Amino acid sequence: MDGANQSSEVCAVLGIDHSSLFYRACSLCERPLKDDPNCLCQHCHRFGSVNLPSSSKRLFRVLMSIATDEKVFTVICFDRVARVMFGCSADEFFEFLKFHPFAAATASKVLEGEVFIMKLSKPKNGNAQHVRVTSLVPMMSDYRPAIETLKEIYRVRSIASQSSMGTSSAIH
Ligand SMILES: [Zn+2]
Repeated sequence: MDGANQSSEVCAVLGIDHSSLFYRACSLCERPLKDDPNCLCQHCHRFGSVNLPSSSKRLFRVLMSIATDEKVFTVICFDRVARVMFGCSADEFFEFLKFHPFAAATASKVLEGEVFIMKLSKPKNGNAQHVRVTSLVPMMSDYRPAIETLKEIYRVRSIASQSSMGTSSAIH
Protein backbone atom coordinates (compact mmCIF):
# COMPACT_ATOMS: atom_id res chain seq x y z
CA MET A 1 0.00 0.00 0.00
CA ASP A 2 2.50 2.57 1.16
CA GLY A 3 5.49 1.47 -0.88
CA ALA A 4 7.85 4.05 0.60
CA ASN A 5 7.54 2.51 4.06
CA GLN A 6 8.10 -1.08 2.95
CA SER A 7 11.29 -2.76 1.94
CA SER A 8 12.42 -6.31 1.37
CA GLU A 9 15.83 -7.19 2.77
CA VAL A 10 18.08 -10.17 3.34
CA CYS A 11 18.57 -10.20 7.11
CA ALA A 12 20.54 -12.33 9.53
CA VAL A 13 19.24 -12.81 13.05
CA LEU A 14 21.79 -11.63 15.62
CA GLY A 15 19.81 -12.22 18.77
CA ILE A 16 16.33 -12.49 20.20
CA ASP A 17 14.97 -10.95 23.37
CA HIS A 18 13.94 -14.29 24.83
CA SER A 19 12.85 -12.80 28.17
CA SER A 20 9.60 -11.65 26.60
CA LEU A 21 8.26 -13.63 23.68
CA PHE A 22 4.49 -13.51 24.18
CA TYR A 23 1.55 -11.48 25.23
CA ARG A 24 -1.94 -12.53 26.31
CA ALA A 25 -4.69 -11.81 23.86
CA CYS A 26 -8.45 -12.27 23.74
CA SER A 27 -9.15 -15.51 21.90
CA LEU A 28 -12.12 -13.95 20.11
CA CYS A 29 -10.74 -10.70 18.76
CA GLU A 30 -6.99 -11.17 19.45
CA ARG A 31 -6.67 -7.76 21.07
CA PRO A 32 -4.07 -7.64 23.86
CA LEU A 33 -5.29 -8.34 27.41
CA LYS A 34 -3.82 -7.34 30.74
CA ASP A 35 -1.96 -10.07 32.60
CA ASP A 36 -4.74 -10.44 35.18
CA PRO A 37 -6.49 -13.73 34.24
CA ASN A 38 -9.88 -12.37 35.33
CA CYS A 39 -9.83 -9.27 33.22
CA LEU A 40 -12.43 -8.84 30.53
CA CYS A 41 -11.65 -8.01 26.96
CA GLN A 42 -12.69 -4.38 26.75
CA HIS A 43 -13.64 -4.78 23.13
CA CYS A 44 -15.76 -7.96 23.26
CA HIS A 45 -17.28 -7.03 26.60
CA ARG A 46 -18.40 -3.63 25.37
CA PHE A 47 -20.22 -5.16 22.46
CA GLY A 48 -22.22 -7.33 24.80
CA SER A 49 -21.43 -10.70 23.28
CA VAL A 50 -19.33 -11.93 26.21
CA ASN A 51 -20.14 -11.61 29.88
CA LEU A 52 -17.67 -14.11 31.27
CA PRO A 53 -13.98 -13.40 31.75
CA SER A 54 -12.49 -13.49 28.30
CA SER A 55 -10.82 -16.69 27.26
CA SER A 56 -7.32 -15.91 26.26
CA LYS A 57 -4.47 -17.30 24.30
CA ARG A 58 -0.88 -16.34 23.86
CA LEU A 59 0.47 -14.68 20.79
CA PHE A 60 4.08 -14.11 19.85
CA ARG A 61 5.57 -10.66 20.06
CA VAL A 62 9.29 -10.97 19.51
CA LEU A 63 11.96 -8.31 19.57
CA MET A 64 15.14 -9.22 17.81
CA SER A 65 18.23 -7.59 16.45
CA ILE A 66 19.05 -8.28 12.86
CA ALA A 67 21.76 -7.32 10.43
CA THR A 68 21.49 -6.43 6.79
CA ASP A 69 24.59 -5.90 4.65
CA GLU A 70 24.47 -2.26 5.72
CA LYS A 71 23.36 -1.99 9.30
CA VAL A 72 22.27 -3.61 12.55
CA PHE A 73 18.95 -2.72 14.11
CA THR A 74 16.09 -3.95 16.25
CA VAL A 75 12.83 -5.17 14.74
CA ILE A 76 9.60 -6.45 16.18
CA CYS A 77 7.62 -9.36 14.79
CA PHE A 78 4.16 -10.43 15.72
CA ASP A 79 2.45 -13.78 15.81
CA ARG A 80 2.05 -14.69 12.16
CA VAL A 81 5.67 -13.92 11.36
CA ALA A 82 7.16 -15.38 14.54
CA ARG A 83 5.34 -18.67 13.91
CA VAL A 84 7.42 -19.15 10.77
CA MET A 85 10.61 -18.93 12.83
CA PHE A 86 9.42 -21.00 15.77
CA GLY A 87 7.34 -23.50 13.81
CA CYS A 88 4.52 -23.64 16.37
CA SER A 89 1.94 -21.44 18.04
CA ALA A 90 2.85 -19.24 21.02
CA ASP A 91 0.68 -21.45 23.26
CA GLU A 92 2.53 -24.57 22.13
CA PHE A 93 5.87 -22.91 22.74
CA PHE A 94 4.71 -21.76 26.17
CA GLU A 95 3.79 -25.36 27.04
CA PHE A 96 7.21 -26.52 25.85
CA LEU A 97 8.81 -23.94 28.15
CA LYS A 98 7.02 -25.42 31.15
CA PHE A 99 9.06 -28.59 30.74
CA HIS A 100 12.18 -26.93 29.42
CA PRO A 101 12.53 -23.55 31.14
CA PHE A 102 15.71 -22.68 29.28
CA ALA A 103 14.28 -23.43 25.86
CA ALA A 104 13.60 -19.74 25.20
CA ALA A 105 17.28 -18.92 25.55
CA THR A 106 18.15 -21.97 23.50
CA ALA A 107 15.69 -20.93 20.79
CA SER A 108 17.44 -17.61 20.60
CA LYS A 109 20.77 -19.39 20.07
CA VAL A 110 19.23 -21.76 17.53
CA LEU A 111 17.88 -18.86 15.50
CA GLU A 112 21.06 -16.80 15.73
CA GLY A 113 22.69 -16.58 12.35
CA GLU A 114 19.61 -17.75 10.45
CA VAL A 115 19.08 -15.72 7.32
CA PHE A 116 15.64 -14.65 6.17
CA ILE A 117 14.21 -12.47 3.48
CA MET A 118 12.20 -10.04 5.56
CA LYS A 119 9.65 -7.50 4.52
CA LEU A 120 10.20 -4.56 6.80
CA SER A 121 7.75 -1.82 7.55
CA LYS A 122 8.95 1.41 9.12
CA PRO A 123 6.83 2.78 11.95
CA LYS A 124 4.31 5.25 10.64
CA ASN A 125 3.68 7.05 13.89
CA GLY A 126 5.66 8.16 16.92
CA ASN A 127 4.21 5.48 19.19
CA ALA A 128 5.74 2.54 17.37
CA GLN A 129 9.44 2.48 18.11
CA HIS A 130 10.58 -0.44 16.06
CA VAL A 131 10.66 -1.46 12.46
CA ARG A 132 8.13 -4.24 12.05
CA VAL A 133 8.64 -7.46 10.14
CA THR A 134 5.51 -7.99 8.06
CA SER A 135 6.61 -11.21 6.42
CA LEU A 136 9.58 -13.49 6.47
CA VAL A 137 10.86 -16.31 4.29
CA PRO A 138 13.85 -18.51 5.19
CA MET A 139 16.76 -18.19 2.76
CA MET A 140 17.75 -21.82 3.07
CA SER A 141 15.38 -24.35 1.56
CA ASP A 142 16.24 -26.81 4.33
CA TYR A 143 15.37 -24.36 7.10
CA ARG A 144 14.11 -26.05 10.24
CA PRO A 145 11.81 -24.13 12.56
CA ALA A 146 13.28 -23.59 16.03
CA ILE A 147 10.85 -25.95 17.76
CA GLU A 148 12.05 -28.92 15.71
CA THR A 149 15.67 -28.29 16.64
CA LEU A 150 14.68 -27.72 20.27
CA LYS A 151 12.78 -31.00 20.48
CA GLU A 152 15.83 -32.76 19.16
CA ILE A 153 18.22 -30.98 21.51
CA TYR A 154 16.17 -31.69 24.61
CA ARG A 155 15.52 -35.29 23.73
CA VAL A 156 19.22 -35.85 23.17
CA ARG A 157 20.06 -34.08 26.42
CA SER A 158 17.67 -36.11 28.51
CA ILE A 159 19.02 -39.39 27.10
CA ALA A 160 22.58 -38.19 27.69
CA SER A 161 21.91 -37.20 31.29
CA GLN A 162 20.14 -40.49 32.00
CA SER A 163 23.06 -42.53 30.75
CA SER A 164 25.62 -40.43 32.62
CA MET A 165 23.68 -40.97 35.83
CA GLY A 166 23.48 -44.71 35.26
CA THR A 167 26.35 -47.12 35.68
CA SER A 168 29.15 -46.73 33.19
CA SER A 169 28.73 -50.30 31.99
CA ALA A 170 25.32 -49.35 30.58
CA ILE A 171 26.96 -47.12 27.96
CA HIS A 172 28.12 -48.72 24.79
ZN1 LIG B 1 -11.99 -9.55 22.54
